Order: sequence, then C-alpha cells, then structure tokens
Amino acid sequence: MSSPIVVVGAGLAAAKAVEQLRESGFGGPVVVYGDEPHLPYERPPLSKSYLMGQTPFEKATVHAQEWYDGHGIDLRLGVAVTRIDAEAKTVHTTSGSQPYEQLLLATGAAPRRLAMADESGVPVAYLRTFEDSNRLRQALAHGARLAIIGGGWIGLEVAAAARTAGCEVTVLESLDLPLLRVLGPEVAERFAAVHRGHGVDLRTGVQVISVERGRVGALLTLADGDRLEADLLVVGVGVLPNTRLAEDAGLGVDNGVLVDEHLRSLDPAVFAAGDVANAFHPVLDRRVRVEHWDNAIGQGQVAARNMLGEDVAYDRLPYFFTDQYDLGMEYVGSVGPEGHDEVVLRDSTTNGVFTAFWLREGRVLAGMHVNDWEAIGPIRQLVGTHPDLAALRDTTVSLTEVARPTS
Ligand code: FAD
Ligand code: NAP
Repeated sequence: MSSPIVVVGAGLAAAKAVEQLRESGFGGPVVVYGDEPHLPYERPPLSKSYLMGQTPFEKATVHAQEWYDGHGIDLRLGVAVTRIDAEAKTVHTTSGSQPYEQLLLATGAAPRRLAMADESGVPVAYLRTFEDSNRLRQALAHGARLAIIGGGWIGLEVAAAARTAGCEVTVLESLDLPLLRVLGPEVAERFAAVHRGHGVDLRTGVQVISVERGRVGALLTLADGDRLEADLLVVGVGVLPNTRLAEDAGLGVDNGVLVDEHLRSLDPAVFAAGDVANAFHPVLDRRVRVEHWDNAIGQGQVAARNMLGEDVAYDRLPYFFTDQYDLGMEYVGSVGPEGHDEVVLRDSTTNGVFTAFWLREGRVLAGMHVNDWEAIGPIRQLVGTHPDLAALRDTTVSLTEVARPTS
C-alpha cells in the first residue's frame, strides 16, 4: 500500500482538505495530526457566541468523530508533528514517525506574545483555542474590569462580548483608531463610535509601557503616565504563522510558507493552506497571507484537489466577517500595499447600515457592508471593476444597479 496523504494541523483548513479529498474520490489513506486534543473546529465562535455562552462547542466542530470514522480519516489528535524529513518524505511526531506520499501543512498561526505582560506574573488571556475561550468566558462576570491590549479583531470582539456580559472594558490601541490598518480612518472611526456607544473606554494612540501586579489583577502604566487597574488583562496583538516545521525542512518561508497559486511549496510533494500559507494570488497579482475563516476553507479544498492531480489556482478574493453587538459586517477584496485613493461610503436611511468601497484610479479594490446582507452579492461583483463612479457615490442608485454590467 502506498504511503498516506498526511495533513499537519487539525484545524479548519485541514478538515476542509480531507473532506475534499474524499469528495473528489480519493480512496487512499489519509492521516491528520493535530496537537490540540479536539476535533477540528472553527474559531469564530470562540470570541462571539461560544464566548457569550450562546452556543455549545459541538456547534463549532467541523464534523463529528463519526464523520472521520465513516470516511476512513485517521485523526491523530493530541499528537504534534515535530519534524519533517522532506528527503525521506517522513514526518516525525511526538508518538513516532510516519512516511507520506504528499503532505499538507495546515498549522495555522499562534498569538503574538507581549513579553512585558507575560513576564509580569499577572494572569494574561490570549485567545486562540477552545481552552482560551473557556478561561475568558469564566472571567466575564458582571462588573469585572477588563483591560484589552490591541484594538484588532480579537480586541473588539472580546470587548463586545465583555460589555454584553456587563464587564467594564478598556481597550488600549497604539494606533489612532482600532482596525485602522485594515479599514482606514473613514470606516475605523465608525467601529470606534459603536464601541464607545456601548460604554467601552476606547483609548487610541496609547502605549502600554509596563504591566505589574496590582492590588488585585494587573496595573498598567501608559506612556503618558496614566495608570489603569484591571482584574483581567487580555492581549490581542496579532498572530504569527506556525512556520517552524517548514523552516527546519528547508521549505521557503517568508511571512508564512511560500506557495504558488496551486498552494504547492518549493517541494512539489508539500502543500500549505490557511493562516500559515503565503500564497501567490493570481487575481491580486501578488502574494497574500490571509488570516480568515473563508480562506482556510477555500485553500484547504483547493490544496486537496491539486494533491489529487487537478490544476486549480486559488483565486478566491479575501473575505471576512465580524459580529460585534448587533453589528454584522462582511468584507471582500484587498486594498493591498499601494493603498487606495478614494473611499465611497453609502449610508442607508436605516441607522448604522452602510456599505463602503475602497478604490484606486476608479477601480474597486475592496468593499464591505454593515448589516446590509443583500449587499454582499453586488459588492463581490464590483470588486475589480471600474464602475460608474457617479452612480456608486449616489445612494439613490441601488448597488445592484451599479453592479449591473454595461453592454
Ligand atoms: P488553525 O485554525 O490555527 O488550525 C491549525 C491547527 O494546527 C491548530 O489546532 C494548531 O494547534 C495545529 N498545529 C500547529 N502546529 C502543529 C504541529 N506541529 N503538529 C500538529 N498540529 C499543529 N475569521 C473570520 O473570517 N471571521 C471571524 O469572525 C473570525 N473569528 C475568529 C475568532 C477567533 C477567536 C480566532 C482565534 C480566529 C478567528 N478568525 C475569524 C480567523 C480564523 O479562525 C482563522 O483564519 C482560521 O482558524 C485559520 O484556520 P487554519 O486551519 O489555517 O489554522
Ligand atoms: P489583528 O487583527 O492583527 O489586530 C492586532 C491589533 O493589535 C492591531 O490593531 C495592532 O496594531 C494592535 N497592536 C499590536 N501591538 C500592539 C501593542 N503593543 N499595543 C497595542 N496595540 C497593539 O490580530 P488579533 O486581533 O490579535 O487577532 C488574531 C487573529 O485572529 C488574526 O489573524 C485575526 O485575523 C483573527 N481574528 C479574526 C476575526 C475576524 O475576522 N472577525 C476575529 C477574531 C480574530 P498594528 O496594526 O499597529 O500592529
């Protein structure tokens, strides 16, 4: 019997890859290693519905154990891959070694640590895993004081969950607005206003210079001399891709595992998908490493198809969503390093409902909506096009109309 297809990392990208292998008719052996003890699961609920106690963990798992059993997927959970011997086509793990025919790296990413917090002796909450979410969930008691360092996705989603639970929340962001890099000032300030409107003490343009033990919990000192006490310190300052295995194996690594549009690495037997992959994107015409749910799904599927000999480029545009309080948003596209020269905001007559577009030289680079669920179809159609700008800027013209192709 030939060696199996081996998948390293049992997260969302891995689960979608093995599902695709079977859907595409692959009947050979498949082995998946995951260092977490859980079935592959989706992380978005960990900072939203699961964190708020609204949905059970089982709802976040991609498939039940029976599915893997029924599809002949050998899931080895709680087992870490420690080394890849690409020449011998073998992975070494905490429980032995395993030859492979082809290998998929789906190792995801891990939170960037903040040394001053870790070294302070104060309990610090990061949020990546089921266990992290459980710990945080227990701390979200009414009246508890949370200080959150980082006004990114984790920071804002945790702030929303904590305010909903009745906590006092301070968010400390070093830039002038939360989510500034991804949304730009025009839209980021709307997120800031939503959080301030819900009673978050959102402090921007601030630097935390020290973390010490306070009377209870943490005592933070800011660069401007301000001091802040908190019962719990949450840190959400980004992630780093889990690339160590690839680096040690001599695969190309630069802000993720370097893969082509087929998600194949320098070694033709090794693929990468999800948060760990820095892939050439044929539509964006540059490399991009995307740290979002939809990308893990799509890349897992495409990597699997290419492992089976298909010739599929991963060309789906980056897409992500968030839910904070009663705000739901979806975003599609990518502004990219050259930036935009115009933002078009289309406010609806319904309070808080809007769409936004980022353009350069009249071309739509990205678009998003807040609470306008019908809009995502036309937004997708518009990304990459040069629409009639007068119509796009005119909120009396529907988006569907703006997106309609001209003959
Ligand atoms: P991961 O989910 O990180 O899975 C990789 C797995 O591999 C992990 O279990 C890891 O422990 C394991 N692993 C690593 N190294 C090894 C090894 N050597 N051996 C064995 N196993 C290993 N995206 C959105 O678009 N919208 C959202 O609302 C959203 N919410 C999120 C909320 C939270 C709290 C978090 C943390 C992320 C959220 N994301 C969201 C991002 C999304 O969850 C990630 O993009 C997605 O999980 C990436 O999937 P992945 O399979 O690439 O990696
Ligand atoms: P993130 O979205 O990259 O945001 C990190 C934020 O922290 C940025 O605003 C960053 O600012 C700021 N920051 C960095 N260092 C700081 C410091 N020392 N003090 C104060 N602020 C600092 O990362 P994240 O929020 O930690 O999320 C982790 C991962 O989970 C990401 O991959 C994210 O995409 C994913 N996630 C996604 C969603 C979603 O899509 N809805 C939800 C939750 C999590 P700079 O830009 O200046 O560095």
